[in-house]
Amino acid sequence: MTDPKDISETEWREKLTPEQYHVLREAGTERAFTGEYDKHFDEGEYTCAGCGTVLFESDAKYNSGCGWPAFTKPTDGDGVDEHRDTSHGMIRTEVTCSKCAGHLGHVFPDGPPEAGGLRYCINSASLDFKPKD
Ligand code: FE
Repeated sequence: MTDPKDISETEWREKLTPEQYHVLREAGTERAFTGEYDKHFDEGEYTCAGCGTVLFESDAKYNSGCGWPAFTKPTDGDGVDEHRDTSHGMIRTEVTCSKCAGHLGHVFPDGPPEAGGLRYCINSASLDFKPKD
C-alpha cells in the first residue's frame, strides 16, 4: 500500500468527499451540531476517513454539548499527533492523523476531570465508524 503521506492532493480530492477533503486536507471545521457522529454513541472504533487508521474508541466518547464528537483520549498506540496551532488568533493544540497527516480537530483542557480533563474535539467528517462485532 502507498504511504498515505505520499498521496497527492489530486488523489485526495478523488478519494474524499468535498467535506472530508475540506476538513482533512485543508484543516477545515464542519458546522457545529451537523456532523454524523456528534450524537452517536454506539460501541466500536472510530477510524480516519482518509486512511483507515484506528483513532478513537467509543469508550472514550462523551457528550460534551459542544456540537462535535468529543473524546477524553485517543486509542492506545500512536494514531494521532498533536501540534501547536496559532491560526485564527488563538493558541490551540491541533490533532492530526499520524499516518496520513489529515486534520482531525483540536484538544482542549476542559474535558471531564475524572477522565483526565481533556476534550478531543473532532470533526465527524474526518472519521469513519466500525461497529463492534
Ligand atoms: Fe489518516
